[in-house]
Amino acid sequence: MNAPGFDMLCAPSADAVIGRSVYDFIAPEHRDRFRNFNEMICNGHKASLEFDIIGLEGTRWHMETHAAPLRHVDGTTVHLAITRNISERKRTDIAAALLSAIVDSSEDAIVSKSLNGIITSWNKGAERLFGYTAPEAIGQPITLLIPPDRLDEEPKIIERLERGERVDHFETLRRRKDGTLLDISLTISPIKDRNENIVGASKIARDITDRKRAEAEQKRIEEELRRANQDLEQFAFSASHDLQEPLRSVKIYRELLVKDCGDAINEEAKEYLAYVHGGATRMEMLVRDLLGFTQVAKFDNPAEPADAGEALDSTLASLAGIIAETEARIKADPLPSLYVHGAHLQQLFQNLIGNAIKYRSPGIAPVVQITARRSSDQWLFTVADNGIGIDPEFKESIFGLFKRLHTSDEYSGTGIGLAICRRIVDRYHGRIWVESEPGRGSVFCFTFPA
Ligand code: ADP
Repeated sequence: MNAPGFDMLCAPSADAVIGRSVYDFIAPEHRDRFRNFNEMICNGHKASLEFDIIGLEGTRWHMETHAAPLRHVDGTTVHLAITRNISERKRTDIAAALLSAIVDSSEDAIVSKSLNGIITSWNKGAERLFGYTAPEAIGQPITLLIPPDRLDEEPKIIERLERGERVDHFETLRRRKDGTLLDISLTISPIKDRNENIVGASKIARDITDRKRAEAEQKRIEEELRRANQDLEQFAFSASHDLQEPLRSVKIYRELLVKDCGDAINEEAKEYLAYVHGGATRMEMLVRDLLGFTQVAKFDNPAEPADAGEALDSTLASLAGIIAETEARIKADPLPSLYVHGAHLQQLFQNLIGNAIKYRSPGIAPVVQITARRSSDQWLFTVADNGIGIDPEFKESIFGLFKRLHTSDEYSGTGIGLAICRRIVDRYHGRIWVESEPGRGSVFCFTFPA
């Protein structure tokens, strides 16, 4: 073997290579080039070559060799070759090329700067984002990009880097070459020398203009909606409040008319007056429920927990008439205390139990069962009845305002009760839903955070 100094790379021991041709170890695709190189040296020329060798154990090494003929004083020519294993350097070169390709193809701006704030590198993303070319930016102070009212951010960032921290997703503004401002998110890491001293910082800047714009738009829409809702609520509150008085007058004057002029009124007119009474009563219910609906948002968060058991007792007291009349049986688990206004709990029970009795199956005494179960983070309440049930098709829509599945002749009502329930539960970030089938009763479920 006359290999120029790579026998130790090719085999675990010199014995394993002695006597073999150097060509056995040269990567097959490089053998011709190696042959030409050899010929050039034999013909008295200087030559250099990069080639791969493959050792007996299959490892590939990248080699670099420089050879030159040397004329000895006795007139003979010897060939001197210096061969180096440059595999490591090659790997580093490839990694560096790869890194530079990644940096250059990034949509984000990747910039580095020295500790005294001078820009030392500038990728294509930075050119696109800020409008400066690399020659224009490199060597300039980083303050080139910082709007005057944000200049105090830089020393704070450097302080954090010096403490060994990384700055992640720091949202701020930067200035483009054309003077326009750009919303960006910055991620900054320290650059350290071999001795772990911080010598600079690398910054990745992401353009978040679109996200910021979308957020601002979303905020604007939410604000508009909130204001419109507030106005609407105020209107509904005033309207329902102010309507109570004229309604009462209608009812009183109808009564007076019947009482004082009863003899003078014929049967047909009496019938009309009965319609007036019916209409005014329905309208009174509507106004009362609408007022209840608008008042759900009235209370602030409760400071004290309310006892759901007490809220249920008050509800049952106010429903005593209809409970007695229908011979309803109400069964309830012990109920917890929770951070929900007692008035809200009462409104929920009033509507759900009231409905459970109202929508009872004909000829069967209503049975209503109330339960409360706690899971890790919430209370689940159920109000189950043995009534007429609900077609699953409507189990979502019945929670909408004025949504009713029956006419007033079949069942009196306004279609506001369940909308009030949903509004209350939403107010505490809970959920409300129903499980039911026609003829098989209904189970209304709602949750509150525990
Ligand atoms: P209202 O009872 O005034 O009509 P709600 O908002 O309380 O209004 O209820 C909406 C509709 O949902 C009712 O009209 C009724 O059709 C249906 N519903 C509510 N509760 C029950 C129930 N327990 N059983 C059967 N149907 C029900």
